[in-house]
Amino acid sequence: MTISEQNKPPLSIRLCAPRGFCAGVDRAIQIVELALEKYGRPVYVRHEIVHNKFVVDGLKAKGAVFVEELDEIPANDVDRPVIFSAHGVPKSVPEDAQARNMFFLDATCPLVSKVHKEAQIHDRRDREVLLIGHAGHPEVIGTMGQLPEGTVALIETEEDARKFEPKSDKNLAYITQTTLSVDDTAGIVAVLKERFPEIVAPHKEDICYATTNRQEAVKHVAPSVDAMVVVGAPNSSNSQRLREVAERAGCRVAVLIQRASDINWPDFDNIESLGLTAGASAPETLVEEIIAAFAQRFDVTVETVRTAEETISFNLPRELRDSVSPPRAATG
Ligand code: SF4
Repeated sequence: MTISEQNKPPLSIRLCAPRGFCAGVDRAIQIVELALEKYGRPVYVRHEIVHNKFVVDGLKAKGAVFVEELDEIPANDVDRPVIFSAHGVPKSVPEDAQARNMFFLDATCPLVSKVHKEAQIHDRRDREVLLIGHAGHPEVIGTMGQLPEGTVALIETEEDARKFEPKSDKNLAYITQTTLSVDDTAGIVAVLKERFPEIVAPHKEDICYATTNRQEAVKHVAPSVDAMVVVGAPNSSNSQRLREVAERAGCRVAVLIQRASDINWPDFDNIESLGLTAGASAPETLVEEIIAAFAQRFDVTVETVRTAEETISFNLPRELRDSVSPPRAATG
């Protein structure tokens, strides 16, 4: 549909900031790009390096090959580098890679590695570990896999927290997935603390700064707009949470979309204002694509609403530090 300039209805876009790439995602993508530059193609990546098809397709075009398990790597390529995704992996994966003499680079976000270390410390102190998170998410599989099978209890809901039967209620600790809803997690933690007042909590919140900041920005913008678009993939936990936060904050329409071609235009009939954000694995170019699509149908004005500054960045693995050009700033 083409709409003449004069007939376009006005639309005020409120752009949440921070949004999009976090420091962990930026680092993970950089690891794949630098490994391709340094070691040539192919470079293998175990699981989507970050949950975004656009990013994954871009890296595939440069020579990255994505596999779900190490044994999918052909025998004549076992000397090629293999990179573990930002979500982290169970301990058995690097052990397996070592046993096969593979050269691996770990793109696990340092904030996920921090949770892995907490699990190991609790275990050394004989604490029973509860992980608050979503079953089946690769980060949860990786964190549970830091300890022997059956050691970590997964708590997904307040109901799970109410029903959980500990081995002893005296020596418990909880950790969390990094990309959860801040509010839902607070509810689950409240139940656990009420039942087990001595439960050991993380020293510093496990939900990461990027998740918290993006949710905060959406909470701030959502009540003032008619609809909210979250740019991100359906398998991206932090993107899904952003959509839920917008919905709970009162947005009549709150949708998660990957590309402009996914927009269901009837959802946006008669809107005058739109909130726009992006999950931590969604590149800014996709946000620009969505704005351009709305600009074809509406007379748009764009205002950035910033609720936090982000300056965090993470070191690259030692093997790649020499090949770096100046670090790229995280978006948002
Ligand atoms: S969302 Fe948080 S934990 Fe995940 S990669 Fe980004 S900074 Fe790391």
